Amino acid sequence: MADKYEVAVIGGGPGGYVAAIKAAQLGKKTVCIEREYWGGVCLNWGCIPSKALIHAAHVFEESTGHALEMGIDGGKPKLDSKKLNAWKEGVVQKMTAGVAQLLKGNKVAMVMGQAAFTSPKTIDVTTKEGKKTIEFDDAIVAVGARPISLPGFEFDEVQICSARGGVNVETIPKTMTIIGAGVIGLELGTVYAKLGTDVTVIEFMPQAMTGMDADLVRPVQRRLEKLGVKFVFNAKAKGAKKQGTGTGKTVEVSYEVDGKTQTTTAEKVLVAVSFRPNTENVGLDKAGVKLDAKGFIPVNEKLQTNAARIYAIGDCTGSPLLAHRAMKQGEVAAEVIAGHKGAAYDVVAMPGGAFTDPEIATVGLTEAKAKEAGYDPLVGKFFFGANGRAVASGAGEGFVKAVVDRKTHVLLGVHIVGQNANDMIAEACVALELGALADDLAMTVHVHPTMSESVHEACKAALGEAIHALNRSAA
Ligand SMILES: Cc1cc2nc3c(=O)[nH]c(=O)nc-3n(C[C@H](O)[C@H](O)[C@H](O)COP(=O)(O)OP(=O)(O)OC[C@H]3O[C@@H](n4cnc5c(N)ncnc54)[C@H](O)[C@@H]3O)c2cc1C
Repeated sequence: MADKYEVAVIGGGPGGYVAAIKAAQLGKKTVCIEREYWGGVCLNWGCIPSKALIHAAHVFEESTGHALEMGIDGGKPKLDSKKLNAWKEGVVQKMTAGVAQLLKGNKVAMVMGQAAFTSPKTIDVTTKEGKKTIEFDDAIVAVGARPISLPGFEFDEVQICSARGGVNVETIPKTMTIIGAGVIGLELGTVYAKLGTDVTVIEFMPQAMTGMDADLVRPVQRRLEKLGVKFVFNAKAKGAKKQGTGTGKTVEVSYEVDGKTQTTTAEKVLVAVSFRPNTENVGLDKAGVKLDAKGFIPVNEKLQTNAARIYAIGDCTGSPLLAHRAMKQGEVAAEVIAGHKGAAYDVVAMPGGAFTDPEIATVGLTEAKAKEAGYDPLVGKFFFGANGRAVASGAGEGFVKAVVDRKTHVLLGVHIVGQNANDMIAEACVALELGALADDLAMTVHVHPTMSESVHEACKAALGEAIHALNRSAA
């Protein structure tokens, strides 16, 4: 006998669990099916564990660097990597338990098992106890994505790792090769470099974090180089050869630069190049759901797939692969199912960034994109070196850049490189969603002393009205 639900959600990651909670809150009898872990990649080996490690590495490194500068000498810090890993796991457990509690508290039925459509109206779930059949009115596919390896770099998650093995810090390697200078490669590269690993980054493109404003990336690369990270650009990774035994195990990575093959050897290799969707083995063909050439699920503004009453959200729908995007899509899909007339995924502000040191956070149009879009932008820049709180916190590196339409003063984008940039960007997201003018942020009183005063000053600078910097831009 099949269990019948109004809404069936496949996947318990940030997209799926949020969609299930929202659907239940909107009065729908909802089931959420997850095969491995509540909270998905984000909570188990993505956003949260990586940020736990970023925090720990920061504390470790501060105690030998910035702390000494301030006259605080607590002695040489020692790292117990097993304890660090256990602490990180504790953070993960706390957060995943919280998700399970929220699902339960919102009366979402939770089924642990591998789900696959058997028709446009039914799903079979393979659970430990056997097969379960679920009938649904509407289904939301939130199956996420997984890291792609390169030919010759099969993941064993110990010596050759994806991010999944990358966030396991039970032992800290003396040497590490990272393939890919994208956000994940550089976030984890920062962690390992701060914990004492000798890191080499091999990148196919001529710059780190391709696609990001090079102005924002420069301070991050500078900092990583200061931490001893070596970058090899325009380099194509070709293969990995495991060698040695026991504690002497290493991996030799070969790569090609300017037609010449070179090698680098390290204890651990992290491949952080790209993701592929988990859309195989979900029976999507049986439900009539079409995929694009790369296996992602195309959706419209209402997050509907081509198949009636089947929706898709999060990483399995393609870029940008971000937890906050998946969560927003989850809420929207539930609202559409519940019949909310205006519900659509039509966000103006989709922030993105990196939790490197300094952090990068960006929302809206960059100066170059604004020009491409036909604007004549005003650009205001404010450096954290002139912000009292930043200097007092040892965070004087970086700046805020505000991009503003010269004609209307509408704020087009804000881009930050600096400590806590990803917290500061929230104000700009609200401003962009409201269609605010740079004048609105320039007129708004910000708490002193805070780093967020720099957002206010960057908007003032764009208008030629900065107080704590010399004005270069004239409105
Ligand atoms: C190291 C790292 C750091 C990251 N940091 C950030 C960050 O700082 N900020 C940010 O926004 N994003 C970050 N991300 C990306 C973020 O983790 C993803 O965008 C997010 O998890 C996507 O959510 P999702 O629900 O779409 O998919 P997922 O989190 O992948 O969840 C999908 C779930 O579906 C389950 N599933 C799949 N198939 C089936 C099936 N057939 N039956 C049942 N269950 C199934 C999976 O087990 C999984 O739990 C990071 C990722 C990594 C790897």
